[in-house]
Amino acid sequence: MTLINGLEELKIDYDNKKLNQTETFYEMLIEKNKVMNLTRITDREDFYVKHVLDSLLIVKLIDISDQSIIDIGTGAGFPGIPIKIFFPDTKITLLDSLNKRILFLNEVIEKTGLKDISTIHGRAEEVSRDKDHREKYDLALSRAVANMSVLSELCIPFVKTGGQFIAYKSSDSKQETDDACNAVKILSGGDINVSRYKLPESEIYRNIVLINKKTSTPKKYPRNPGVISKNPL
Ligand code: SAM
Repeated sequence: MTLINGLEELKIDYDNKKLNQTETFYEMLIEKNKVMNLTRITDREDFYVKHVLDSLLIVKLIDISDQSIIDIGTGAGFPGIPIKIFFPDTKITLLDSLNKRILFLNEVIEKTGLKDISTIHGRAEEVSRDKDHREKYDLALSRAVANMSVLSELCIPFVKTGGQFIAYKSSDSKQETDDACNAVKILSGGDINVSRYKLPESEIYRNIVLINKKTSTPKKYPRNPGVISKNPL
């Protein structure tokens, strides 16, 4: 009931197909996790709350129907796979620099029968220089990949003017968010909006950081991988 209660609290529609796809994903994750480092969260209820409902929490903030979305540093598929399962009309791209994780996600996509979802093996800094991906997405999402300054440089170049970048952060992320103001401005983002939400079926609070993209990102960004983290904007 944890998942269903949480979905109802978030006012997200579900049916047997979506619930079965979630179960298939969980079973594949647990099986693959025995031979590959994918997640520390293995308990079923924890998976529902800390992975699935957490991934879906952004619906409190924005309407994601029909959006083209890139999930940067998706790892084992969060937040991208739960979003695709429960919002099948989204168009999702999952990006990660570790090919083993991408190969796992390809298996998940095939077995769950998800459509309009693709994977890319590559570094965000390089893929966002490709004209097929630069400023092509309505929404860039990222969870647990880097601090806000670094993450802004990795994610904002993917977003169309008028689109949005959302970072999933813990509730103690105020300092790193304040520190990212300069980076966001340079990369052509607007104000940084932080919203605090309680994760359904838990006592955990999360910060969802939303940035609107105002104009085109200057061509010199993102910089080379080493430089971004050594010398954040
Ligand atoms: N987003 C997932 C989650 O919340 O469970 C995974 C988080 S995991 C801690 C960080 C992931 O980001 C890893 O899978 C790593 O390979 C990927 N990653 C880190 N830097 C990256 C980059 N520059 N470009 C693409 N992927 C990156």
